[in-house]
Amino acid sequence: MTTHKLLLLPGDGIGPEIMTEVKSILGWIEKNSEVSFETEEDLVGGSAYDAHGKSISEEAMKLAHNADAILFGAVGGEKWADVPYDMRPEAGLLRLRKDLDLFANLRPAICYSALAQASSLKPELVEGLDILIVRELTGGVYFGEPKEIVTLEDGQKRAVDTQVYTTSEIERITKMAFDLARTRSNKLMSSEKHNVMKSGVLWKEVVNAVHKDGYQDVELGHILADNCAMQLVRNPKQFDVIVCDNLFGDMLSDVAAMLTGSLGMLPSASLGAVDSSTGQRAALYEPVHGSAPDIAGTGAANPIAMIASLAMALRYSFNMGKEADLLDKAIAGVLDQNIRTGDIYTNGMTKVGTNGMGAAILAQLDAQA
Ligand code: NAD
Repeated sequence: MTTHKLLLLPGDGIGPEIMTEVKSILGWIEKNSEVSFETEEDLVGGSAYDAHGKSISEEAMKLAHNADAILFGAVGGEKWADVPYDMRPEAGLLRLRKDLDLFANLRPAICYSALAQASSLKPELVEGLDILIVRELTGGVYFGEPKEIVTLEDGQKRAVDTQVYTTSEIERITKMAFDLARTRSNKLMSSEKHNVMKSGVLWKEVVNAVHKDGYQDVELGHILADNCAMQLVRNPKQFDVIVCDNLFGDMLSDVAAMLTGSLGMLPSASLGAVDSSTGQRAALYEPVHGSAPDIAGTGAANPIAMIASLAMALRYSFNMGKEADLLDKAIAGVLDQNIRTGDIYTNGMTKVGTNGMGAAILAQLDAQA
């Protein structure tokens, strides 16, 4: 029997509601596999601020460092709009990303056949879509120094952000993207703007060097980031894995996300480097959406993004690809039965709440077992 240490951080708003459904699915997996989960749970975001005066406590950080993986719900809400900047709910998530050095953000964009009609693109363009955007998460223009607004002698102001990348930062995200491409269709597209940015020139150079050095079996392409955005809405199925920097990844992953219909469907993973002594990597899995204060407490939230985040944890942290496939298949199966939460509901479907969707996925898992 293998035991995995899992830290659950439900957070605020709908976070705890969707995490409840994940706990039931963890129970199902334990019953139907050779693994057990040692779970701890703690506060993060506004709920942690209310309890401890900060958005994540040192105790919770210690649990995070000790966990094999973290499942994170969502944070934030109007209630905490006026708390000091460093203590705002989102600061808890940023601290986790920084302290655990989660440098790679994986955002799959999967369009379930049953939801192809909900996309803003024609169904035939998105039906069966399955792409993965790998975004560098801890470098680039969001963190580069100087980062400031200064007042000039003539009274004008000047704002500066700095786009900066080193060889090793590009190498580690590129290697991860090549490794992921090998587990899929062995195709990687690298996206930057080498035509106008020095960081783009270096990015392309390093990606090519990594390719030559150990990944020549993977088909590599390069595309300018503006063209990539255009191609994502013109013919998204031409892509499989796309690797890009922090800024372009932010934009491109949101474009790709919207091809699939609803925020309530989108999982993500943030991964660190493999520790050479333990073979483990730090990892945090979370839905792309926020705490949805407008529907919190009504039992209407779609738990699929959270449950699909658990599927990513099974796949990328616990080497449980078979169980991850089962869970992904159960989600697709429930959608094929026309069961929908409000955010993905259309006329003629069966409308359920958060618990109803969780129960339907459990029933589908039983049916598949
Ligand atoms: P949001 O993602 O919370 O909600 C946007 C819209 O999508 C809302 O109408 C909401 O009801 C709906 N929605 C989102 N998730 C849903 C789900 N699972 N099921 C059904 N409907 C869903 O974004 P927002 O309203 O801009 O932000 C609300 C709060 O969340 C803010 O405080 C924001 O800072 C925070 N936020 C947190 C994260 C995070 O924790 N990673 C991410 C984004 C926003």
